[in-house]
Amino acid sequence: MAWYTALWIGLLGNWPLWHRMAGMPDFAGWRGTLFIAVFAGIVVMVLGAVFSLLAWRTAVKPLLSLMLLMTAPLAYFIGSYGVVIDSTMLTNALQTDLRETRDLLAWGLVAHLLLLAVLPLVWLWRQQVTDKAWFKRLGWNLLAVVLALVLGMGLAASRTADLASTLRNHKVLTKMVSPVNAMWAGVALAAQKHLVPKGPPERVATDAHLAPRAAGSKPPLVLLVVGETARSDNFSLNGYGKPTNPELSRLPVLSYREVSSCGTSTAASVPCMFSHLGREVFVDKPTHQETLLDVLQRAGLAVLWLDNQSGCKGVCDRVPNAQAIHPARADHPLPAGLCGADGECFDEAMLHDLDARIAALDPQRVARGVVLVLHQMGSHGPAYYKRTPEDRKPFLPECRSSALQQCPVEEVRNGYDNSIAYTDHVLADAIGWLTQQEGRFDPSLLYVSDHGESLGENNLFLHGMPYALAPREQKHVPLVLWLSPGTRAAQHLDGDCLTARRDAPMSHDGLFHTVLSLSGVQTQVYRRDWDWVGACRR
Ligand SMILES: [Zn+2]
Repeated sequence: MAWYTALWIGLLGNWPLWHRMAGMPDFAGWRGTLFIAVFAGIVVMVLGAVFSLLAWRTAVKPLLSLMLLMTAPLAYFIGSYGVVIDSTMLTNALQTDLRETRDLLAWGLVAHLLLLAVLPLVWLWRQQVTDKAWFKRLGWNLLAVVLALVLGMGLAASRTADLASTLRNHKVLTKMVSPVNAMWAGVALAAQKHLVPKGPPERVATDAHLAPRAAGSKPPLVLLVVGETARSDNFSLNGYGKPTNPELSRLPVLSYREVSSCGTSTAASVPCMFSHLGREVFVDKPTHQETLLDVLQRAGLAVLWLDNQSGCKGVCDRVPNAQAIHPARADHPLPAGLCGADGECFDEAMLHDLDARIAALDPQRVARGVVLVLHQMGSHGPAYYKRTPEDRKPFLPECRSSALQQCPVEEVRNGYDNSIAYTDHVLADAIGWLTQQEGRFDPSLLYVSDHGESLGENNLFLHGMPYALAPREQKHVPLVLWLSPGTRAAQHLDGDCLTARRDAPMSHDGLFHTVLSLSGVQTQVYRRDWDWVGACRR
């Protein structure tokens, strides 16, 4: 049973791996085909060894069933979207809420479950399990493991050079071996969780305080919009061919074109964006530290996180936070058409009622300044078409399916570009609201996406590739700033300098420091060289 299952999963359950390898120039010709066959043999041996260890009388059927039920959806997602299964992807999957999961369900998944899992399960559960004494069973199992390892090593030895270069140049292939990838990711995730210190978070920037305000200036109002899955190249502000920024392009905004993200997924990027450490230190160090929002709050400002997505990944745990849709109140009903019956809202819903939300915050803090964070649904895929209201779709026809690979690439791009154009509208509306606040505050808007997206380039879709292997599209994000005249004056910002820096290299590392400076908070932790506007402060 263990060996038939290993053969089934190794050869059929890993079809995306064999398909990918067969299409790679490195594996062309008879020599490449031979190597793929040897590699498949090694995979079967590894799986055979692992499954042999599971082959105990009462455990063998449930455990092999679990392997089959894990492999079938993995094959669907890897084969359809080119995603890679590692601990970050597993975190994403576990943190994703039900609404988002529903977008991913498709008939292709059902077909994979039926053919790759249900079919062999029917066979598996009809088999007789022979009863053996435990030491005999152990002996047979260990013999099978040794045999598998010897055969596997023999196969590896037959093509050592090819194997070494493949493991070096195409690391991503090893992460495609199912279900070993998911099992390994689970172990890695558990280890990471174990390394994070328990208890209250380590304090950050304990010296943070509000700087005295410049004469004639008003309290700061910083609106930080955390975008979702928006990639820089699809912004017409950044040179994209289609008019995806019709509203922002008429406003005095600054759009920076060379901005890189900290991670390639929400779960990886968001905590990193709100940390003072910057990507290089943050990714290597499992920390439990205070975030930007803790520092702002300690300095005395009013802070609010509004979420229209799968939560703030821990960064807003100790500050006021709310879902975009608060239960409809009689005095503040949501405008019609912004939220569906399933509880999912378009991003405009977050702008509704902002005045009332500020009025509900501590008035003493509000008088010192406000930092509002809006966490968008943005361009969350693969169901891009669900991110835009029907009357806000300038690019048609659009792909109306989650199975992106079944749509013509132009329709996928149209659906995605509609979501970018909708974000353009939401940001322009937000700037409109900020303009109305100029009597009370010196407002500014910062918009940056958490990561980019692959839209079929090299047969990759979605995001979440390991950072070192991820294509540029997943790491290259838009960054848009709008600074009111009052903010520019109070912050001594040089407009020509801000404009001239549109192609200066920037990254998520700057978010923490830019928000600190725009909200007037001083601390030793602040780094002017990372601050997006730091170089233009006179
Ligand atoms: Zn995201």
